Amino acid sequence: PLFERQSTTSRNNNNNNNNNSRVLVFVRLRPMMNREKEAGCRTCIRILNRRDVYLTDFASDNDYLRLNRFRGRHFTFDASFPESASQLDVYSTTTADLVEAVLQGRNGSVFCYGATGAGKTYTMLGTVENPGVMVLAIKDLFTKIRQRSYDGNHVVHLSYLEVYNETVRDLLSPGRPLVLREDKQGIMAAGLSQYRAYSTDEVMALLLQGNKNRTTEPTRANETSSRSHAILQVMIEYRTRDASMNVINRVGKLSLIDLAGSERALATDQRTLRSVEGANINRSLLALSSCINALVEGKKHIPYRNSKLTQLLKDSLGGACNTVMIANISPSNLSFGETQNTLHWADRAKEIRNKVYETNEELVQDSESDADQAKLLLEVQKENR
Ligand code: ADP
Ligand code: MG
Repeated sequence: PLFERQSTTSRNNNNNNNNNSRVLVFVRLRPMMNREKEAGCRTCIRILNRRDVYLTDFASDNDYLRLNRFRGRHFTFDASFPESASQLDVYSTTTADLVEAVLQGRNGSVFCYGATGAGKTYTMLGTVENPGVMVLAIKDLFTKIRQRSYDGNHVVHLSYLEVYNETVRDLLSPGRPLVLREDKQGIMAAGLSQYRAYSTDEVMALLLQGNKNRTTEPTRANETSSRSHAILQVMIEYRTRDASMNVINRVGKLSLIDLAGSERALATDQRTLRSVEGANINRSLLALSSCINALVEGKKHIPYRNSKLTQLLKDSLGGACNTVMIANISPSNLSFGETQNTLHWADRAKEIRNKVYETNEELVQDSESDADQAKLLLEVQKENR
């Protein structure tokens, strides 16, 4: 099998072993900004219905009706969000199911990609008034945990990191660059800080602070670099007992990723790919597109090792993982080329199939301390009463 990554410690065999899931791909169109309207930008995108998108280089409604029915390009995705879609619409359709899967002890990841200014950070982080997927996912997680707290103890930890220029940095505890290490669980950023999360408000504050620590483009002092990737990792640990009263540790990992601007790296064909390779482009993003290509083509070797980003995402892409991609696009005709590229990649990502067949459950071995055992047993007995 190509994409399997079997955990040797896992003892859970009652899952469906043929649970072969496709990467879900969504598109979100952002509204036209006032300054774009003032500059006379026209729209080159129509969201035709809940799933279909039409890209055209003819812009006025008249042109669209008269000429473009047979021109331009038509795409279909798992869902296509018009500019009027709310943050909650986007969260519930794209990510809510994934949060549920992570609570069951699976891994999941959500990527936002697209050109700079297309709405990735808005979708992922959002604002205090309109929190995005990262915050809504954690809020939902807390709600779900509260609802099921009768069957064990959940602990939620957060890490927030950045990959910029092939350097990995901790966004919650800025300092020296982090080194990637591989252990039997996968690839880890050594020394990455973990925060225990208790409430949504606190998480939003933490993430906003973290976002301030993202690398800024040297030329534009206040602007976050379009070449920085931000990754929020949410680890949910859960301890319970199985039918024969064995202690079970369950760990689910949710990765939420605000990718760098795709404008210079996601080339649509080999010719452009070569021509951008010489330029100063984002190696991690290029490596990500190579991995996607290799996964789509069913290659045996997936080149995860080519960049920091793909190393970090190894277990979130093509592995035992539920993956969601959100392609962010701008309506403006000035972004036509970038939008076309983004839609091309989104279309291609639909072909990736991840094998999701197992939870990260682990039977706690005898090394478990007696005091711990006794405490848990008491809890379980209390719950069973
Ligand atoms: P990116 O992270 O892709 O570079 P941003 O998320 O920063 O883009 O979005 C660019 C601008 O557009 C920001 O001012 C952001 O607030 C705004 N924006 C993006 N998407 C939306 C949306 N769905 N609704 C309202 N404003 C949006
Ligand atoms: Mg951004």
